[in-house]
Amino acid sequence: MSGGAVPPPLRANRCAAPGFRSSILARSIVEVTRMPDQSHERQPTASVQQRVAAIEAAFDERGMKPGEFIEEFKQLAEEKWIPENGARVVAKAWTDPAFRQRLLANGRDAVGELGLSMPAHHRHLVVLENTPTLQNVICCTLCSCTAISIIGLPPDWYKDLEYRARVVRQSRTVLKEMGLDLPPEIEIRVWDTTADTRYMVLPVQPQGTLGWSEAELTKLVTRDSLIGVARL
Ligand code: FE
Repeated sequence: MSGGAVPPPLRANRCAAPGFRSSILARSIVEVTRMPDQSHERQPTASVQQRVAAIEAAFDERGMKPGEFIEEFKQLAEEKWIPENGARVVAKAWTDPAFRQRLLANGRDAVGELGLSMPAHHRHLVVLENTPTLQNVICCTLCSCTAISIIGLPPDWYKDLEYRARVVRQSRTVLKEMGLDLPPEIEIRVWDTTADTRYMVLPVQPQGTLGWSEAELTKLVTRDSLIGVARL
C-alpha cells in the first residue's frame, strides 16, 4: 500500500461507541486543538507531551479524572483482559459440545458462563468456527477493535494500516507473509469488526489432543489463533 493513506478523522470513528470514553477523548482533542484563525498564521504542531498536557487540562476543567481511568484501564488490560480468557473459551468448546453450540449461537452469553464479561457496547460476540477447509480471520479496517476482554489487547500489527487494508484484499498473501501458508483448497473469510459486534476465532482442535483436560488444551491456544492469522 502507498504511503499516502492517512488515519480516519477521530470524529468519524465508526468504532467509538456512543458514550464510550474514547469519544470524550476525541471531542477533547478537537476542542483543545482548535486555534483562533483571525491571524491565519501557521502554528507549529505541538509536541506529543504538549498535546497530552492539553488533553489532561481539558479533562481537569470538566472535573474528570483521566489518570484514574488510565490506571484502571491499564490494570484491566494487563491483568484481566488477556488472551488466556479466549483460550479458556476455546478449550471449553473443544471439550463440551453443548457449550460449543451455545457459544456459536450467542458468544456473549456463553463466555459469561465462564465468568467472562464484555464492555456494555460490545453487544455481540460472534464466534467464528474454523474447519479443516475454512480459515476465519478478523480485523478492524478503521482502527483496532477486538473483543478486548476476551482475546486481549490488539497486537501492534493488527492496528497497522498495512494489515487493516491488505488482509481484506490480499488475505492469502498477508497470511503467508505472517507465516500461515494455506493451500488453495482452504477458504479464507475475513470479518471486519464494528463498534458493537466483536469476533473471535474458534480454531480447529489440534490432532492428537482428544481426551486432554481443559487446562492442558488452554495452554495450546495462542492469541494469533484467536485472531485467525495462525492455525494450531
Ligand atoms: Fe476499530
